[in-house]
Amino acid sequence: MQTTSIQYLKGIGPARAKSFTARGVNTIEELMYYFPRRYEDRRNFAKVSELKEGEIYTVKVEVLKGMQRNSWRRRRFSITEALVGDDTGKISCVWFNQPYLGQYLQDAAWLILYGKVELYNGKLQLSNPEYEFLEDGQEDDSLNVGRIVPIYSLPKSFSQRSLRKLIKHALDEFLPKINDPLTFDLRSRHNLLNLAQSLLNIHFPQDFELQKQAHTRISFEEFFLFQLPLVLRKINRKNKAGIRHTAEGKLIDDFTRGLPFTLTGAQEKVLKEIKTDMASAQAMQRLLQGDVGSGKTVVATIACLIAIQSGHQAAFMAPTEILARQHYDKISAQLEPLVFGGRKLRLVLLSGQDRDKEKIYREVKEGKIDLVIGTHALLQEELSFRDLSFIVIDEQHKFGVGQRALLPKKGNNPDILIMTATPIPRTLAITLYGDLDISVINALPQGRLPVKTMHFSEAQKAKAYTLAKEELNYGRQVYIIYPVIEESYALDIAGAKKMFIELKSGIFKDYRLGLIHGKLKNQEQNEVMSKFKNKQLDLLVATTILEVGIDIPNATCMIIASAERFGLSQLHQLRGRIGRGKLQSFCILVSDGQTEESKMRLSAMVSSSDGFHIAEEDLKIRGPGQFFGSRQHGLAELKIANPLMQMQLLKAAREEAIALLSQDARLDERPHQFLKQKLLQRFPEYEKLMLVG
Ligand code: ADP
Ligand code: MG
Repeated sequence: MQTTSIQYLKGIGPARAKSFTARGVNTIEELMYYFPRRYEDRRNFAKVSELKEGEIYTVKVEVLKGMQRNSWRRRRFSITEALVGDDTGKISCVWFNQPYLGQYLQDAAWLILYGKVELYNGKLQLSNPEYEFLEDGQEDDSLNVGRIVPIYSLPKSFSQRSLRKLIKHALDEFLPKINDPLTFDLRSRHNLLNLAQSLLNIHFPQDFELQKQAHTRISFEEFFLFQLPLVLRKINRKNKAGIRHTAEGKLIDDFTRGLPFTLTGAQEKVLKEIKTDMASAQAMQRLLQGDVGSGKTVVATIACLIAIQSGHQAAFMAPTEILARQHYDKISAQLEPLVFGGRKLRLVLLSGQDRDKEKIYREVKEGKIDLVIGTHALLQEELSFRDLSFIVIDEQHKFGVGQRALLPKKGNNPDILIMTATPIPRTLAITLYGDLDISVINALPQGRLPVKTMHFSEAQKAKAYTLAKEELNYGRQVYIIYPVIEESYALDIAGAKKMFIELKSGIFKDYRLGLIHGKLKNQEQNEVMSKFKNKQLDLLVATTILEVGIDIPNATCMIIASAERFGLSQLHQLRGRIGRGKLQSFCILVSDGQTEESKMRLSAMVSSSDGFHIAEEDLKIRGPGQFFGSRQHGLAELKIANPLMQMQLLKAAREEAIALLSQDARLDERPHQFLKQKLLQRFPEYEKLMLVG
């Protein structure tokens, strides 16, 4: 019933159905879950005479005079103006770049405006208010006035009014028949409304109290559906036998002794957690969080050695060619002096375009290789292991969930360590990564100086270059990062390619410059990186290809051009490329960006170098869905629930999921049938999960 296509609703033709498809709405149920982005209280409108500067209002007014003019002088844009009023007074309105609006602003038309009152030339004015025209028969227009009214983001070819009508129609017809995936008992335990009441009140709230309750109930449902697969995965895993590793041994001792540093307390602590897991009979699935530069790689390397000294093979997967090669070079050098069982360790780099792939496949299969390091090339079907017992996935957020699931299949319940440099608060991590155990490296190696971060305007760019030159003259190296490869005139941003030429023949002509970006062949990328690493280049002009993992401690200065074009976590990742040794490093964000959001991002960068803090800020700015990316989790399913704002509710939903699944893992009992239905409908993969274990 609810899975019926919206095409069958009255008032929806193929065109409208299509514009909904673009928003992920295909069925009537999905339409009912298409929630308003805000509400307007139209039970009482503000009176025009009461409006004050700086406040946001909803008013119901009549057009007294409308007009449109185009301003071609400075830039091409149109201005539409109107004088509107109610029985208490008049106010002028102005809209920018809405050239079609003018023709509707007929005298005596009634409309509802929502917007901010500003002072302009000494007079109050509504600028760019949202508007909704009232039809003549407004008195019995009970969906659109005289109540709390939902405001939606509009799919193409819909107006607020037509969408409200459509949704109301769907609710009237289908709510009486709707099945509630949350049982009566569960709802009573948490004081939750039933589904029909909730959907009605989230769209057409009777009052704000009920709207709030509806919001809570639907948030709970979202969290609950989101937790069930995670929890079930964890339960399944605990039921499966893994590999018992020997965690201590000469190989580990030799390796640790050979390091040019001693492990930090934080590294030791997580290593102990990993060792305990690896030694146990249960398969490990551990998330290792640690800020950029906290030293995750060496911990992962030791875990690989545990697998090897236990007589098995290990795999280390990184998201880019450059990073895989860097790991390979570094780990090769570290393992070079080691001897195990009378022989040297054998490792291999598997990348996208190896010519002798066949040979690698054969040797891995025959067990002649101890450790395979590579990109997602590791996922290729042709690669199989003799005895894979341990897997590292570096920078896990760069892989999709599906990709991450492929590698473990190449072993027999191997232990898995996934690593991320985007740390989040612990309670949040436990719930969002609910199928994993979590370790955190919460301190940087000793002697690291926090990167000094500054924000310069475009006009101060020369100062940034001077600072970079000072670093170069000390024998240090510099990165200059651009958001794009080719410049964009439309957006007025400089690109890496052109700036490379400009910088090389201009201000940095006395230095050796390199250029790296994603469009270069891997071969060329490798050459540039290794030259930079070997100090045959002084300055690297780059794109975000450098974002993950690159570790060159002699680089102490980074200039990020058009910094407003990067996300906060991305900026932090980029900055993480410097400050990796004992030297003081400098990061200069060059930007004239003026949006509130970009100002928040830049000031967060300047004021903090702590990844946890930055991640929290970023979560606040972008919201969890965007922060984690839809590929990551069922998080994309969270339409209104917010893990940051509703941590208690999330925790409660998780506890309910654990209680339910430990008692009825396959949801076979009768009261759980609707929940099962909904889960399978939302996540078809859930069926497979239920069959395991
Ligand atoms: P990330 O956690 O960002 O992946 P890496 O593992 O690349 O960080 O480590 C960053 C740098 O710190 C590397 O050059 C590494 O050799 C060095 N490092 C790691 N652990 C320590 C330590 N305990 N003391 C000093 N330097 C360390
Ligand atoms: Mg790393």
